[in-house]
This record gives sequence, C-alpha cells and structure tokens, in this order.
Amino acid sequence: MDDCLFCKIIAGKIPSRKVYEDDKVYVFEDIHPKAPTHVLIIPKRHIRGLKEAQEDDAEIIGYCHLVAANIARDRGIEDGYRTVYNVGPGSGQSVFHLHLHLLGGRHLTWPPG
Ligand code: 5GP
Ligand code: ZN
Repeated sequence: MDDCLFCKIIAGKIPSRKVYEDDKVYVFEDIHPKAPTHVLIIPKRHIRGLKEAQEDDAEIIGYCHLVAANIARDRGIEDGYRTVYNVGPGSGQSVFHLHLHLLGGRHLTWPPG
C-alpha cells in the first residue's frame, strides 16, 4: 500500500534496523523500544490489523509468532518475553499494518497497562 509506513519500510523507502527477513515477513527494531529487546514482526503482505484479518491470513499470523519465538531463543531471553498485537486505537495501535511486538530482556509485569 502506497501510504502505509510499514509497507515503505519493507520496500526500503524508509530506513530501519533489520533483524530478520524472509519471503513472508520482515523484522526490525522498534524506533522507541520499551524493553531491551523490542522488535516488530510484520507480514510482507499488507494486512490492516488483527480484526481485519481473514481466514487466508491465519497461517501468516501463526508464522509471525514462530519467528518471534526464534528471535527470543537467539537472543537468550526465553526466561520471559511477550508477544503483543495491539488491536484498534483504544489499545494503542498507531500503525495500521499488522505487526507483532516482541518484548523481552527485562522483567515484565502483569497485567500490562
Ligand atoms: P502500535 O502502537 O501500532 O502497536 O505499534 C507501532 C510501533 O511502531 C510503535 O512501537 C512505534 O514505536 C513503532 N514505529 C512507529 N514508526 C516507526 C518507524 O518509522 N520505524 C520504526 N522502526 N518503528 C516505528
Ligand atoms: Zn502496509
């Protein structure tokens, strides 16, 4: 999508600190990290958000979580990390291209705010 920030990051039109990439996903460091590890896992195909996801998107939604688990293992943060989809403006979703947050590397409190 032309006017989507994360589509522009995938296309390299906006710079980012890449963590991992394959044919299905792009992973990069969050620009305002909320934990020592704070990366965003995004599908290369534009999906607006979780509530707009369709049956066809089920595989990529699951795949994003497996990629998050691999990164957490590589970074040695398996003692405790969190994967988060913010869904809708009331949750803090500010970019409307599906993105999975992976947060870890510090103690994470529960419930989140
Ligand atoms: P949301 O609030 O929509 O769940 O998450 C959007 C995330 O994208 C935020 O954590 C924000 O810091 C991050 N973000 C917004 N703009 C940019 C950008 O231009 N580059 C990077 N690397 N992260 C961004
Ligand atoms: Zn997009």
